Amino acid sequence: MHVCKNDLVAVMAGNEAGKTGKIIKVLTDKKRVLIKGINLVHRHTKPSQKNPQGGRIQKEASIAIANVLPLCQNRNCKKNGKGVRTRKKLLENRNKIRVCACCGSEIISAE
Ligand SMILES: [Zn+2]
Repeated sequence: MHVCKNDLVAVMAGNEAGKTGKIIKVLTDKKRVLIKGINLVHRHTKPSQKNPQGGRIQKEASIAIANVLPLCQNRNCKKNGKGVRTRKKLLENRNKIRVCACCGSEIISAE
């Protein structure tokens, strides 16, 4: 997977193209992601203990993982704030990190 939970990502295609947000959840087997505030749909819910009123609630619907790219947060990168392609980089301690294919800085997910 080129993105993971808590990554800041840009939506590259579909109805929400151009928007950015933070990944709430990765649905690995479906190859889809939930992004906070993106692709909101209304769900009609019956009253429950958790939500005694019931009614309409807004909820994120998943979008295809192929349509999102992580954001480069290097301010000096010409793609700063935009979705970028990533490369894998092997560190001396054998950990793999993701780096921006444009400027080479590490892609760090927000906690
Ligand atoms: Zn970059």
